Amino acid sequence: MHPLEVLRAGLADLQVRGLHRRRRISDTPCAPRIRIDGRDVVAFASNDYLGLANHPELIEALSQGARQYGAGSGGSHLLGGHSRAHALLEDTLAEYCGGFARNPRALTFSTGYMANIAMLAALAGPGATLYSDALNHASLIDGARLARADVRIYPHGDAAALGEMLAADAHAGVKIIVTDAVFSMDGDIAPLADLLALAERHQAWLAVDDAHGFGVQGSDGAGSVAALGLRSPLLVYMGTLGKAAGVAGAFIVAEETVIEWLIQRARTYIYTTAAAPALAHAAISSIGIMRGGDGQARRARLAGHIEMLSAAIGTRRTTGTGQASGLPRAGAACAGSETACLPRSSTAIQPVLVGANQAALDLAETLLAQGFWAPAVRPPTVPPGTARLRLSLSAAHEPADIERFIEVLSAS
Ligand code: PMP
Repeated sequence: MHPLEVLRAGLADLQVRGLHRRRRISDTPCAPRIRIDGRDVVAFASNDYLGLANHPELIEALSQGARQYGAGSGGSHLLGGHSRAHALLEDTLAEYCGGFARNPRALTFSTGYMANIAMLAALAGPGATLYSDALNHASLIDGARLARADVRIYPHGDAAALGEMLAADAHAGVKIIVTDAVFSMDGDIAPLADLLALAERHQAWLAVDDAHGFGVQGSDGAGSVAALGLRSPLLVYMGTLGKAAGVAGAFIVAEETVIEWLIQRARTYIYTTAAAPALAHAAISSIGIMRGGDGQARRARLAGHIEMLSAAIGTRRTTGTGQASGLPRAGAACAGSETACLPRSSTAIQPVLVGANQAALDLAETLLAQGFWAPAVRPPTVPPGTARLRLSLSAAHEPADIERFIEVLSAS
């Protein structure tokens, strides 16, 4: 078959299985009220949890950064692209979320995807074993592959099962436990304190991807590790700057020695152009907002939104048909159920489980026709049979947006 025909057949197959993905074009800044594909909608789609992506101070900081440092970095960090803005951002991040380490230091990356690959591939060497949560993000899965380590998957959020695996692996090689802190498609939180206790007992690294917790978790937004007051030199913390922080990029905070090792060995740090310094300059402003009164007020407002939406969708029940009018998705509702269930989410990520791919797409289309963008997420992003709407809340939503959405969803 002609190579193009192979691809055409593959695309047709994705269509038939309800797995074909499409992009929608937005003509407006990232905000709950956006214009996509020429239609005005209220979106529950972005990771702009604090509503900072469109904050005037950040927009100003970005332009000021561009005036000061230019539009691009011009090179990789080790060959001329490392600017004062990157250095200042590193210091700010180490101070903000490095409370868990003795000598915290930070390193910035162009994206969270690259930071995760760096974290795993550089820490693991030959003979290393990686213990990875079954629902970890794709970038951690890819990082584990590139680490060329022996990868063991432990059941989602199950520290007891992980403990048994670690106890059974009495070899002396490097061990790394890796987990999302807030799971990107379910919104539940990893048992970080239990995982850290295991890491300490077995002298393993605990690599935490806090893409969805940084800026949101903890009273000052310093993230999921700080929120629990955990402390250990074995912690390696990854946060992203394109979600709650409203800009772009990512970072790792860890003990000084770990960061120095990453600078020497992390290929996704060394062999890529440094992000525009203006982005780092804007991220410093963003952290200022997140740590201050404005950030606190935004987290409080978001918490109110989460309570409202989770109370409404947490009570939905299954029809047994895979249709959207109420599959169980939370806590006690799941016990003994034969239908797939999701754990209760207390975060800004609120999934509504649908089941079948096409049913999830149909529900998303129905909602879109009524002015709400609630994206359907399907395999392989989520396990087969658990297609869902992935709703994400922002402090920039109005309570009325959520009330109206709940009404429309309930009637769909
Ligand atoms: N980790 C998690 C849990 C994520 O959800 C994402 C982005 N969706 C990433 C890492 C990657 O971050 P970035 O978008 O900055 O590449």
